[in-house]
Amino acid sequence: MTPEFRSGIGYDLHRLAEGRKLILGGVEVPAEKGLVGHSDADILLHAVTDALLGAAGLGDIGQHFPPSDPQWRDADSAVFLRHARRLVEKSGYRLVNVDAVIVLEKPKLTPFRDAIRESLADKLGVSPDRVSVKAKTAEGLGPIGEGQAAEAHVVVLLGRSSESLLS
Ligand code: MG
Repeated sequence: MTPEFRSGIGYDLHRLAEGRKLILGGVEVPAEKGLVGHSDADILLHAVTDALLGAAGLGDIGQHFPPSDPQWRDADSAVFLRHARRLVEKSGYRLVNVDAVIVLEKPKLTPFRDAIRESLADKLGVSPDRVSVKAKTAEGLGPIGEGQAAEAHVVVLLGRSSESLLS
């Protein structure tokens, strides 16, 4: 059987403000400012959700979870990811790997990187070696460098189930 691979890209940005929690990949990171959004504003989970949906040709997070819908207010973004994962699996695809970049000026994410990676892997139902999470700053430049926002960039690769190649 010819294996079929599908790549997906995801991107998200949310503003940062005092009085909000900073939640990245489902992990709460102690910080002065947190991400502002209708849900918990977890940029990493939003970008991964979009990348999964994109790879499978199933639209985007806004179509599946309209921000205008009050039921998603302060929602745990793991709900969005779980939904995308179910759709992907129903289409016969499995996650080969995910690579992510978080751009955030502060705090430094190095001490939390492994926890974020493990949390993301757990939510995706794969081992952490299939998940990569990198953190960068914006070198003080632009709105991200000034601490007004944070963003996440994600690439995923899906493969159509094939024991010989993807197990
Ligand atoms: Mg978002």
